[in-house]
Amino acid sequence: MKIICIGRNYAKHAKELGNSVPKEPVYFMKPDSALLPKKAPFFYPNFTKDLHYEVELVIKICKLGKNISPKFASTYYKEIGLGIDFTARDIQLECKANGLPWEKAKAFDYSAPLSRDFINKNEFSNLNDIHFSLEKNGEIVQKGNTEDMLFDFDNLICYLSQFLTLKIGDLIFTGTPAGVGPVQIGDKLIGYIEDRKMLELNIK
Ligand code: ZN
Repeated sequence: MKIICIGRNYAKHAKELGNSVPKEPVYFMKPDSALLPKKAPFFYPNFTKDLHYEVELVIKICKLGKNISPKFASTYYKEIGLGIDFTARDIQLECKANGLPWEKAKAFDYSAPLSRDFINKNEFSNLNDIHFSLEKNGEIVQKGNTEDMLFDFDNLICYLSQFLTLKIGDLIFTGTPAGVGPVQIGDKLIGYIEDRKMLELNIK
């Protein structure tokens, strides 16, 4: 399986990092080793001094597809989960400044903790009005709503499938809203979709 991550899909987040709002989706990938095994602790990586959380809704591909048309895009995912796209912001800034790829900052081991449960999309009355949030040490630091996505789930699937064959089990991290920030050892992160607690992580 592969993990595809969308960058700059929420205008306010693009702006907080000084990026322009993109005209088409920006994506990058993480390897399967970016997943954090169940119940494994998350250790602050020793190669960064500025590790940032980015909470994101994650859709799971349920059908093989290529060049998917808008009409059928919604049939390629059934479930929505929550993940954190951990980013070594110091390294990412260095990569950007030098015109280099971001993998070193984004695609490292355990950089993509994921909720164990996924929610059937039929449980949501409107996929373009899903609220999600992240709490750090008891305080809400990020709040997002899918209505603010520049490219919605269906759009992302059509777009990505022009370049990549989507396979069963592939994950799409659909972008983070504004409010990204650093974590320190000892911090506790809790992620929610609506009022449902999806993810809990202690930084060790
Ligand atoms: Zn992200």
